Amino acid sequence: MTNSARAAELSITSLQDWLDACPTPFHVVDRAASVLLSTNFVETHQLSRDLPSQGFIRRDGAIVAWRRSSHSGAPFHIVGAHTDSPNLRVQPRPDIRQAGCSQLGIEIYGGVLLNSWLDRDLGIAGRVITTDGTQQLFNVAEPIARIPQLAIHLDREVNDKGLLLNKQLHMTPLWSSNDVVTFLDWLNATTGIPTSDIASYDAHLFDIVPANILGQDKSFLASGRLDNQVSCWAAVESLIRIDAPAHTAVVVLNDHEEVGSVSTTGAAGPLLEHVLTALSITGRANITEHSDTLRASRALSVDNAHALHPNYQDRHEPRHAPIVNEGVAVKVNGNQRYATSATGVAYVTNLASRNNVALQTFVSRNDMPCGSTIGPITAGRLGIDTVDVGVPQLSMHSAREMCGVNDPLTLVSLLSAFLHD
Ligand code: ZN
Repeated sequence: MTNSARAAELSITSLQDWLDACPTPFHVVDRAASVLLSTNFVETHQLSRDLPSQGFIRRDGAIVAWRRSSHSGAPFHIVGAHTDSPNLRVQPRPDIRQAGCSQLGIEIYGGVLLNSWLDRDLGIAGRVITTDGTQQLFNVAEPIARIPQLAIHLDREVNDKGLLLNKQLHMTPLWSSNDVVTFLDWLNATTGIPTSDIASYDAHLFDIVPANILGQDKSFLASGRLDNQVSCWAAVESLIRIDAPAHTAVVVLNDHEEVGSVSTTGAAGPLLEHVLTALSITGRANITEHSDTLRASRALSVDNAHALHPNYQDRHEPRHAPIVNEGVAVKVNGNQRYATSATGVAYVTNLASRNNVALQTFVSRNDMPCGSTIGPITAGRLGIDTVDVGVPQLSMHSAREMCGVNDPLTLVSLLSAFLHD
């Protein structure tokens, strides 16, 4: 069976299931690990000199998985994506009582589209770290919190002048009308861990509405966290589908891209570099051979692109605006906000045409600078030729984003061709 035939076996419901199971980066890592374990990948807790031929290592909100080539000294083909999405996170001392309501103090993480979090039924998910240092995930997909928007009668100019939201004053969710339960009490009731054993936690709010196929022709997908779990899902599904690769296939899912990637588990941290070094040592390469291997390696940095919005077409560069369901976007930026080079474009275009994968091109307007990705960081740290690609989407950084149902599957075809190449 060809790689694209295997990709065609996948359906969009697999992505919906992934999105619904993964309200936080910790759940993404847990999900990726369970998919890998179910397909005979071996988890390793240490980067020894004898890594398994197909394995993975995880750390907090990040995971790196690989399939070693049987050719010694084979370069790496790396797919990178990020596990985090902009959201609201419960503070360490969250209990607030005012105006007859109990509220949860939150911190805003990343570039949240604030208005999209109003008037939604919110659940809470994350992890508890106990006093003995163990971690337990929790995921309560029930309506337990809400940020009510101010009534139009009390904000008469909102439709004409726009909605102004102060991050400190206006984004605090309500979660009770009485004050009998503290957040720690709730964590105790949710996880069964005594409050005296709860040393710390990460707790993120999320929209509880499941991922939905929508449209008269059912051609769209709406969900939270499409940026960038579409890419995480596609990377893992691609890695488990390839036959013995010519290159050593690597998937890295980093945390903290939405806040600049500088952390132990972010793309600017050392995790990927450590794994690549350990893979070379396992292949008995010396330091010079390892450097040569890195120079001959390639990476795809996979993150969603802005699709052309029919109501705001002037926000796009007219000749470089990707359309929903017309293929994976190759992202180009001369100022290196994306890592893509001309040689990289040539490589990906050739790879796509050999595998019947539709590509489009994204370039941002000169008067509207684009965001960045883990691509330039990976290219800059490791000296590996990197191309930025991604599925076109609408409503980026909303609590509920939107893309096409075909493009994620097209992405799996592209990534499995690349990892196998
Ligand atoms: Zn992203």
